Amino acid sequence: ETAVALSNVRKTYRVGEPVHALDGISLEVARGSYTAIMGPSGSGKSTLMNLVGCLDTPTEGTVAVGGQEIGALGDRERTRLRGTEVGFVFQTFNLMPRLNALENVALPQLFQGIDRPERRDRARDLLERVGLGDRADHLPNELSGGQRQRVALARALVNDPAIVLADEPSGNLDTDTEADILDLFDEFHEGGTTMLVVTHERHVAERADRIVHLLDGKIERIEELDEGATSG
Ligand code: ADP
Ligand code: ADP
Repeated sequence: ETAVALSNVRKTYRVGEPVHALDGISLEVARGSYTAIMGPSGSGKSTLMNLVGCLDTPTEGTVAVGGQEIGALGDRERTRLRGTEVGFVFQTFNLMPRLNALENVALPQLFQGIDRPERRDRARDLLERVGLGDRADHLPNELSGGQRQRVALARALVNDPAIVLADEPSGNLDTDTEADILDLFDEFHEGGTTMLVVTHERHVAERADRIVHLLDGKIERIEELDEGATSG
């Protein structure tokens, strides 16, 4: 079954000379697979993630997420799809500074009509899964960088999304913390979550089943990785 399907996708920005940020991309992402996206700066990685994350629509071609073509949806339907189907982990964690860890994790459920006790239970459960059960009351600035990243991950997962999108998830993290985050990704992947991760780091990409290499808005090549491949 297909989690994400892009067919002949083109995304053109018109600021003076038109820029084809994506220039004829076709890609299928199977449910439960783990895909890494690599490519130089400006190759279209963020544009691709924004489309899959239902934040934007293609100029040409089709993008289907969870079997629904996003270009055919209205803004409201796209927002709903984004809330239920997709979880985002951004490089700059985007945590709310005045909310504690538990409240930050609980936040996305507000828009899903889940009542408060259940929101708190689920948020607490997710915080425990990322190893921060004892930090629920801490504000973001009372947490280390890696802990903040884990709060962001818990928040991305609290609505139990089918697809997790991570953009440079381990940027600015020390080696141990990075390994913790990547181990968590492995855990969720093993639990059936579809993982899509943008990274500049080869050893991060090697956690995936395959690496899609972008160049100038096109797929340069797709590298299949062996099960259990090790880096180095
Ligand atoms: P990457 O994430 O690989 O660095 P992007 O997807 O951010 O690449 O950008 C791909 C190309 O599209 C670049 O040439 C960039 O300048 C251009 N681009 C991205 N976003 C916009 C935008 N909002 N308006 C105009 N051009 C953009
Ligand atoms: P790291 O090496 O992962 O960046 P830090 O040295 O920043 O970790 O933090 C170590 C511990 O101290 C963490 O458990 C964190 O929760 C706690 N901590 C860091 N900053 C604060 C703060 N301002 N208030 C309370 N606890 C803090």
